Amino acid sequence: MKAVRLHAYDNKPVVEDVPEPAAKGPLDVVVQIGGAGVCRTDLHIIEGQWAPKTGVALPYTIGHENAGWVREVGPAVTNVVPGDTVILHPTPTCGLCRACRAGEDMHCENNAFPGIDTDGGMAEYLLTSARACVKLDATTRPEDVAALADAGITAYHAVRKAVPLLYPGTVCVVAGAGGLGHIGIQCLTALTATTIVVVDKNPEALKLAEQLGELTVLTLGLGIGVTSAAFSLINATLLARLPVSDGAPGVGSPCATSSGRWPDSDP
Ligand SMILES: [Zn+2]
Ligand SMILES: [Zn+2]
Repeated sequence: MKAVRLHAYDNKPVVEDVPEPAAKGPLDVVVQIGGAGVCRTDLHIIEGQWAPKTGVALPYTIGHENAGWVREVGPAVTNVVPGDTVILHPTPTCGLCRACRAGEDMHCENNAFPGIDTDGGMAEYLLTSARACVKLDATTRPEDVAALADAGITAYHAVRKAVPLLYPGTVCVVAGAGGLGHIGIQCLTALTATTIVVVDKNPEALKLAEQLGELTVLTLGLGIGVTSAAFSLINATLLARLPVSDGAPGVGSPCATSSGRWPDSDP
């Protein structure tokens, strides 16, 4: 099969022929890849930024945002059958260690990370596990959703953690409307009643952000200090247009401060 393989850091990956994976273990699943996202992490991998961390032996196949159709399953797999449309959790995990039992799959003691430390999904087929397969409606096109396997759940995870702080009347600044940011904006729109302010230096990213919901966009360079700079701008512009209840804190009063600090609890 064809696969996108990295042979040397700081060199472009190459497309080459490699053997197809097989479902040898009882819970193995081989997926025919229908979509594999390109993540900035892939660029970091190619630049060698993660080389000491992963200790992976080159060459290997990159691609950690994957979706496709189940091709082959091990004898103990019961949750998917060949032909099923699936999106893949990035890490096949054991389901048995303490981290897995606590729902902290990313900290599994026995995990692999295809595309990061083992062969990934920029190939015709990928070896993963039953536990990593999330079955989708048969009509879902893998290429439409593959990036949600990593960029999507990362942004969703961040927003879910912030939800208790983002009650009505608050302001939330999204620093960056790129690959993760534009998904985070959609999560904020769906899960909270906060006032969303999006900051980016790229006019194209802000144009996309404006299509994602009712929000305010600000053109600002990203980096250290962006949050306090954004809040200064907000104080100067946005807050003047928000309903404020006689200056008293509480519902109807913007709860973000110029320091960017959020209140500790819902009043
Ligand atoms: Zn990624
Ligand atoms: Zn585990």
